Amino acid sequence: MATIQVSKKYAFKWYEKFYFMSISAGMWVTLKHFVKSAFLRRMVTVSYPENKKVLSVRFRGLHRLKRNEKGQERCTACYCCQWVCPADAIQIVAAEVPPERQYLHPEDKYAKTFQVDLLRCIFCGLCEEACPKGAIYLDGGLPMPDDSRDKLILEKEQMLEPKGGPAIGERL
Ligand code: SF4
Ligand code: SF4
Repeated sequence: MATIQVSKKYAFKWYEKFYFMSISAGMWVTLKHFVKSAFLRRMVTVSYPENKKVLSVRFRGLHRLKRNEKGQERCTACYCCQWVCPADAIQIVAAEVPPERQYLHPEDKYAKTFQVDLLRCIFCGLCEEACPKGAIYLDGGLPMPDDSRDKLILEKEQMLEPKGGPAIGERL
């Protein structure tokens, strides 16, 4: 069996084995932040939720499903977003629009259920880009931590904007 010779050039020096440099660098950063917040009153963290940072215009938040100008659900359950999602985070069940609900939908098919699993989602924004109807946007605010996996699956009712709700791009 062949043996691989590891060059001595890449071997650790004796003092590197004690991680002094790395530990000291980490402690220096901690000390700087401690001095700033304790003595100079320059907080390095934000007291959320009392204080909120201004979000970048490119920030991607929670998913929202939009309505058109007539107040109808834009989503027509075409599955484009589900197919394009690299994390397999979207699950849609399509159904035919019943006659009594036709005024709520622009076409004869709609998303009976629409779920987004936030534990799988990587907030890549591909679903938003792929949607031919402009129905899904990631402009719904910050994803919040929770103590239950079930609560981190967004249902259609949670994502669907209320009638007369905020305009596209406007954050909740
Ligand atoms: S943002 Fe990306 S990962 Fe999340 S649901 Fe949309 S396509 Fe999937
Ligand atoms: S959100 Fe858009 S891409 Fe996804 S199913 Fe509805 S219409 Fe199709």
